[in-house]
Amino acid sequence: MPSLFVNGAWTTGSAGTADVLNPFDAGVIERVDQAGPDDVDRAVAAARTAFDSGPWRTTPAAERGALLRRVAEFLQRDKEEIARTETLDTGKTLAESRIDVDDVTAVFRFYADLADKDAGRIVQTGRAEVVSRVVPEPVGVCVLITPWNYPLLQLSWKVAPALAAGNTCVIKPSEVTPLTSVSLVRLLEEAGAPPGVVNIVLGDGPGVGAPLTEHPDVDMVSFTGGLATGQAIIRASAATVKRVAVELGGKNPNVVFADTDFETAVDNVLTAVFLHSGQVCSAGARLIVQDELADELVAEVARRADRIRLGNGFDEGVEVGPLVSAQHRAKIESYVASAQEEGARVLAGGRRPDEPELQKGFFYRPTVLDGCHAGMRVVREETFGPILTVERFGTEAEAIALANDTEYGLAGAVFTTDGARAHRVAAALRCGTVWINDYHPYIPGAEWGGMKRSGNGRELGLTGLAEYQEAKHIWHNTAPAPQRWFAS
Ligand code: NAD
Repeated sequence: MPSLFVNGAWTTGSAGTADVLNPFDAGVIERVDQAGPDDVDRAVAAARTAFDSGPWRTTPAAERGALLRRVAEFLQRDKEEIARTETLDTGKTLAESRIDVDDVTAVFRFYADLADKDAGRIVQTGRAEVVSRVVPEPVGVCVLITPWNYPLLQLSWKVAPALAAGNTCVIKPSEVTPLTSVSLVRLLEEAGAPPGVVNIVLGDGPGVGAPLTEHPDVDMVSFTGGLATGQAIIRASAATVKRVAVELGGKNPNVVFADTDFETAVDNVLTAVFLHSGQVCSAGARLIVQDELADELVAEVARRADRIRLGNGFDEGVEVGPLVSAQHRAKIESYVASAQEEGARVLAGGRRPDEPELQKGFFYRPTVLDGCHAGMRVVREETFGPILTVERFGTEAEAIALANDTEYGLAGAVFTTDGARAHRVAAALRCGTVWINDYHPYIPGAEWGGMKRSGNGRELGLTGLAEYQEAKHIWHNTAPAPQRWFAS
């Protein structure tokens, strides 16, 4: 079955094929078609025509919502198969992949419900004969570029609101994990998306992503991925003045005060950083812990990190899968090496696992580095892997200063039993999401996105729909008359 979908038809690509690898054993899962420049042009042309002349943007919003609701039903119908594909492709555990499919379903339902709720607003003009309305309209042709860590989930945050708003789109998933994005497009086709409304082209950043972001017929690029790529996309889109929304990396502080219940703190520190092997944009990679609690907490976190069970995401009892690729593991290893050179002490991990059955895959042990400070590369840069750095603080003011001492601003957490302090710290953290006494939960109804270099847009929530809308002002003078501005 061909893997590109352009103008309502599945096709092969002019750039040959590429192997998609299973990170558990480096075996080939599937060979997928690769788009060439002509495929990119055809996909954009199909989306352009479907937007300019097709029925989609004038389809009643409730019907657009109904299509999204059908996709949600199909996702639940095919949940097991899609979850298994996600685990094969990303290495994450099957339990996590099942949760991802449920979360994606909830995102489709949320935007299905929202599609027809906002018809705009009437604006007071001070003139009885004038009706002034501000109405939401779709932006146009949207290019949706996604990363490899949560392929299906990240795509849903874009494609569901984009379609609810009446846009057409060209999807470009990560070349590392493209499989469930193709599955989702099949469901959109089955749900009745008209030809050209949804297109998918596969390939890498330079070959497919860059030409899409430069394309003159594209109105908007919504991108989730790394900082350097986001910067390149912002630069590339300048010539054609596209709307650009970028969701980038994080270096997220997890601030733990000494009054926190010990078991709650240990458990949440582990979940914050080691879920999905730390390959989570919001991973709590920087533990910032109060002096009185630090030694005991860090020792216990390291002890428990050493016991985390790595393995095949399909196997019962496995808690963490492999890293996504050999290249990514090499990057993680270089961060640990540089941290040690800069004086960090390895309390757990810091190496590949010994088990013979894990040698073919891209595994790396959960790693705890003590004695870290903000000058270290491993503290400043997003590693996007299973590395926890530990910094210590005395006062609340020191905790806030350490937490904010980063160029990123995606997410962060504060653990304390002092409610007033929790809210003071939450207000002081410069990041898009703050969890108090919790880590990682998100809901479709609440906005997600970053401050500072973590990005410039918001996904999910009401703002996540507005990202894909233009606000048009329509001024209607119901009693037209000469304005007499000029004398003759
Ligand atoms: P990446 O930037 O390498 O790639 C992301 C996507 O961009 C891929 O589809 C890739 O092919 C494409 N791309 C690469 N170069 C391009 C170019 N020049 N023009 C257009 N597209 C191009 O990121 P990644 O390694 O796939 O993902 C990891 C990053 O994603 C991390 O930094 C992580 O924090 C971030 N992320 C952020 C969020 C968030 O919500 N803020 C969520 C998930 C992941």
